Amino acid sequence: MQKLPGHSMISQNFQSDLVHFPDFHTHQKGNVFSIFNVLPDEGIPDQCFSWGIHPWYLNENWDKELEKIVASSSNPRLLAIGECGFDLIKGPEPKLQMKAFVAQADLAIKLGLPIILHCVKGSHLLQEFLKNNPNPPAIIWHGYNQKPKIAENLISFRLYFSFGKALLKQDSNAQQWLLKCPLDRIFFETDNSEISISAIYQQASLLLGIPVGQLVHQVRENWNRISNRKMT
Ligand SMILES: [Zn+2]
Repeated sequence: MQKLPGHSMISQNFQSDLVHFPDFHTHQKGNVFSIFNVLPDEGIPDQCFSWGIHPWYLNENWDKELEKIVASSSNPRLLAIGECGFDLIKGPEPKLQMKAFVAQADLAIKLGLPIILHCVKGSHLLQEFLKNNPNPPAIIWHGYNQKPKIAENLISFRLYFSFGKALLKQDSNAQQWLLKCPLDRIFFETDNSEISISAIYQQASLLLGIPVGQLVHQVRENWNRISNRKMT
């Protein structure tokens, strides 16, 4: 990963106890302002979480896994369904992926929660889903690092974008799309990277020329607009 010049200095100067940076998608437990993503057999954590069937772990028994999620769905700490979605590199056949995604989207709609989307080489499947489902849940495409054109083509739908470590890479697709993306569609995340969530916000702040505090305010508003389970 490429570091921007002066990046670590900014990190040191920036740390503030007054600002809490929500992390909308992470595989690390412990930060109370983050949404921990539950993968199979991980168990429900003692903090806010998202839970869905990741396409990597999707098989014919997916409905059993979905039943477990449904059984936990009244847990107020369940904040989103996912990550789930489409992966044509490492997932099962597309038909199965679509079936499982539709079922999880239905659950998300029922609960009034967003979907955290995993999408690798599957944007045509996402498009197909959105065209066939006129009232989709809010969908947050996590770790977005595709060409801006792909996002632009889908922006008329209820689609949101969560930006992570790719923002730190000079001229990445993520950087390019962040600069064009409507601010009411953005979120930030660490996913499985070691980079701190504050560094992601700082980088977005530098790129956009918007103070981090304002970005935090923005993403909280974005969240509360699309989810029944609010961030207070
Ligand atoms: Zn993830």
